[in-house]
Amino acid sequence: MADQNALENARRFAGKEHRLFIDGVWREPRSGSAFEMRNPGDGTLLGQAAKGEAADVDLAVRAARTALEGVWADTKPAERARLLWRLADAIEAHADDFALLETLNNGKPLRDARLFDVPHAIETLRYNSGWATKLGGDTINLSGPGTWHAFTVREPIGVVAAIVPWNAPFAMSVAKMAPALAAGCTLILKPAEQTPLTALRLAHLVEEVGFPKGVFNLVTGFGETAGAALVEHPGVDKVTFTGSTEVGRHIVRAAAGNFKRVTLELGGKTPVIVMPDADIKRAIEGAARSIFTNAGQVCNAGSRLFAHESVFDALVEGVAEHAGKLRVGPGLDPATQMGPVVSQEQKDRVLGYIEAGVREGARISGQGTAASGPGYFVPPTVLTGTLPTMSVVREEIFGPVLCAMSFSDGDLDAIAARANDTDYGLGAIVWTQNLSAAHRLSRKLKAGTVRVNGGGLDPALPFGGFKQSGWGRENGRDGIEAYTELKSIAIAL
Ligand code: NDP
Repeated sequence: MADQNALENARRFAGKEHRLFIDGVWREPRSGSAFEMRNPGDGTLLGQAAKGEAADVDLAVRAARTALEGVWADTKPAERARLLWRLADAIEAHADDFALLETLNNGKPLRDARLFDVPHAIETLRYNSGWATKLGGDTINLSGPGTWHAFTVREPIGVVAAIVPWNAPFAMSVAKMAPALAAGCTLILKPAEQTPLTALRLAHLVEEVGFPKGVFNLVTGFGETAGAALVEHPGVDKVTFTGSTEVGRHIVRAAAGNFKRVTLELGGKTPVIVMPDADIKRAIEGAARSIFTNAGQVCNAGSRLFAHESVFDALVEGVAEHAGKLRVGPGLDPATQMGPVVSQEQKDRVLGYIEAGVREGARISGQGTAASGPGYFVPPTVLTGTLPTMSVVREEIFGPVLCAMSFSDGDLDAIAARANDTDYGLGAIVWTQNLSAAHRLSRKLKAGTVRVNGGGLDPALPFGGFKQSGWGRENGRDGIEAYTELKSIAIAL
């Protein structure tokens, strides 16, 4: 339940005049214009964000460059660590404000924002804070003629552009900012046009805790203008992006100008494989959670269920029952278990996929009830009779729609082949009590993360995709090292 005062404060924050945070100063966008922020739970207007464009991006990149080569380069790793830790403390002290803003702007249940998004962001800052003082290189033994002292060092990659989507805007903004700043880079953050609110609040705390000016910059605006200007800007050294595969492809092309380093976390079509020996009750709960959390707007959502024929009916019935009971409603309603999707456009897209699936021959074997009212609600849905050629099976729906399929052969190669029959390769989930099958299947699945019998995200666990799910990894040591360049130094003695 939201505290009424806190909710009023959050609404007041949303409604105030917002600017761009560039070089430690809140600036009017050059365009002088703004765009609307809405509450997906009821479609109401929350406020307006500044519409940053190419000229603002240019200013932000210059500020980030100056800070990179000046004050931030002179800031010792331990001080970078302290600043990140202080930011984590400041967010923790205002945790409920962030959860409320996330729910108001993204629509997710307040409970989820409180239990996952905000704590995850805090832990990500603390985890990466620890890395600031631990990044280093190796000493290398050379075999050529002469006597050498050879070693490697890790240097910050430079100015980073972070472009984030709307499904977990706060957690994702921090997941990019924390390792970038810990590694000694400076950053320009561009949140999605639908959900800039928590990024705006974050920038105020960055200012409060005393990061030097220009280290963290925030440009709100549209992808085609602000986002495109960032990925094309010659002063940007790296782009880290989460979003659609289509825009990811565009970014790769746009980054070619100065060969920006690029990390891409794109879509997914995660298979959930249920073996005949699985703990069925837990598998049902896990499968339902995996597709209905955040109304299915999760890159790693378990959207393709493959269950052995001996347990298939039980699985479908169980997940369908779950869908039927889910309370779908506005994120601020304490009874809500699944919120709206982020926009009317996304709602139309998801409903369009369900219709296309049925048109192509799929059956709706279970469906919950979308709340009535002006919010962007869609019903949690279980489809059966789906074939590998159907669009619902091949494409990322990014909504609460599960395609359930069965297999009869226990051959692990055959199961893995069906699970791997996708352009994506972000995640895979296996439910089994057979240790050997768990290990063998994990090796055969072409996915960046394989989870056996449950589990969630952790800032220490590398996350990213095989195939068209992206390039590179976020989180863990690999995640922070992606914000560094490795330099080899060889000194003749
Ligand atoms: P996008 O990929 O368009 O948006 C993600 C981010 O990229 C936003 O900040 C967006 O800005 C920005 N962007 C858009 N175009 C450009 C560009 N030319 N150059 C630089 N940045 C750009 O996602 P959508 O919002 O259009 O969602 C569409 C679909 O993408 C979803 O239905 C889902 O399938 C997938 N998706 C996947 C996500 C994931 O986590 N893997 C997350 C979100 C979406 P702006 O908001 O202004 O468009």
